[in-house]
Amino acid sequence: MSNMSVVSGVPTVVVPEFVRFKAACPDCHEQFELAASAIRLAVGASHRTTFYSFTCPRCDAAVRKPAGERIVELLSTGGVRTLRLHAGL
Ligand SMILES: [Zn+2]
Repeated sequence: MSNMSVVSGVPTVVVPEFVRFKAACPDCHEQFELAASAIRLAVGASHRTTFYSFTCPRCDAAVRKPAGERIVELLSTGGVRTLRLHAGL
């Protein structure tokens, strides 16, 4: 896994590596736990465009799932990278 890469020296960002998010793959139905670094969160202007995505560690499928407010809060506070997709104001 590429997320195991270690940067030598003093870490500049405190990443909660111990945080794991439970997820399931709709393709192979495998259940697993993902590190925050393995998940991407996209926050759009509406709930329909707010989702999180990850790659299934078992079958390599690109999984995208809708994220409600609670999930967004959970993921973002857990160190998941958040991409804001607001299209216009
Ligand atoms: Zn899978």
